[in-house]
Amino acid sequence: MTGQQWQDRYAGALMNAFGPPKLVLTRGEGARLWDADGREYLDLLGGIAVNALGHAHPALLEAVNRQLSTLGHISNFFTSEPQVELAERLLGLLPASNPAGAGGRVFFTNSGTEANEAALKLTRRTGRTHLVAAEGAFHGRTMGSLALTAKAAYRTPFEPLPGHVTFVPYGDAAALRAATTDQTAAIVLEPIQGEAGVVVPPEGYLAEARAIATQAGALLWLDEVQTGIGRTGEWFAHSADVAPDLVTVAKGLGGGIPIGAVIGLGDAGRLFEPGNHGTTFGGNPVACAAGLAVVETIEKEGLLEQVVRRGRQLGVAVSAVPEVERVEGRGLLLGAQLSDEIAPRVVAAAQERGFLLNATGPSRLRFAPPLVLTEQDVAQFADAWPGIVSAAQEVHA
Ligand SMILES: *Cc1c(COP(=O)(O)O)cnc(C)c1O
Repeated sequence: MTGQQWQDRYAGALMNAFGPPKLVLTRGEGARLWDADGREYLDLLGGIAVNALGHAHPALLEAVNRQLSTLGHISNFFTSEPQVELAERLLGLLPASNPAGAGGRVFFTNSGTEANEAALKLTRRTGRTHLVAAEGAFHGRTMGSLALTAKAAYRTPFEPLPGHVTFVPYGDAAALRAATTDQTAAIVLEPIQGEAGVVVPPEGYLAEARAIATQAGALLWLDEVQTGIGRTGEWFAHSADVAPDLVTVAKGLGGGIPIGAVIGLGDAGRLFEPGNHGTTFGGNPVACAAGLAVVETIEKEGLLEQVVRRGRQLGVAVSAVPEVERVEGRGLLLGAQLSDEIAPRVVAAAQERGFLLNATGPSRLRFAPPLVLTEQDVAQFADAWPGIVSAAQEVHA
């Protein structure tokens, strides 16, 4: 069966929510993917910042196989060893926000948007309902997460959305202060805005957000669904001097197995009472075993340091053409601002030459490759990049 034949069957069987798929993929290994016509690609998108360990990593295979052949699903009437261990590991990755005895607690979900739904419900337990979110923010597609997502194209067809949300310009602490009142349940921010094209706020912004939230008696909720679990070369993108009340994670946590989590720190870890929230699949043994394998492999393979080095190398490579005005981001989450509206053409030209990346806007590219990306992978991309961009320019001209 050729890629085109699969595409035709896709169009006949799947809802058209995504537009036509760019490729029919059949196999992956490390940072490489192969399509149904046997062509090879270097994966610089990582399933949108998900495939932390790349494709078919032996540690993830082993953990998932072992868990699924032992105990695959049990519901939350019961618990399992991986669920408890992963919750402890996540809390342990936030030592500054969760000193011994501070009472941090975790709730597991199956996705980023569900982690944010759970966090949103938690904020209602403060007795307040007002939320402050940022322009450019992306928090997911379910109704609650969508209410916190700024983009009109995503929101408008589904209004009215729940809640009472004020949007403020991202990175503007004065605007955040002005919008936050004693009615505010939480301030919700991405430490780096991912879907907006990898937008980094000014130095000190999150610390100011922390101070503003504290002053108003509101929670500080950081959405690290895209930035968390090593993506930026640290376990989390917020620094240790910013102690959030809530951190949501998902994408990279399961390395491709669906899992998300709300990490509630301090008193925020104890806002849910029995019966307040639930999930059938959330925290299931297989997903938690995958999460443990990801965290342990990042540690064992020294991937945090490697991400910093690879990110620098990739940033230099991307910047090496005049069409790239600047590269923003940290570690292996990079956004490239182009001087022309050629980002979709660059993505197409890259795909033709065997490289997968993503356009977040007409002149903005995103790179979120597997954390296991090698020096040779980046070198191969660096060689091809000028040709990719000039091909895209020619089509444009
Ligand atoms: C991707 C993303 C989400 C939504 O996650 P899903 O798993 O797609 O529901 C939420 N917040 C941020 C910051 C994201 O990048």
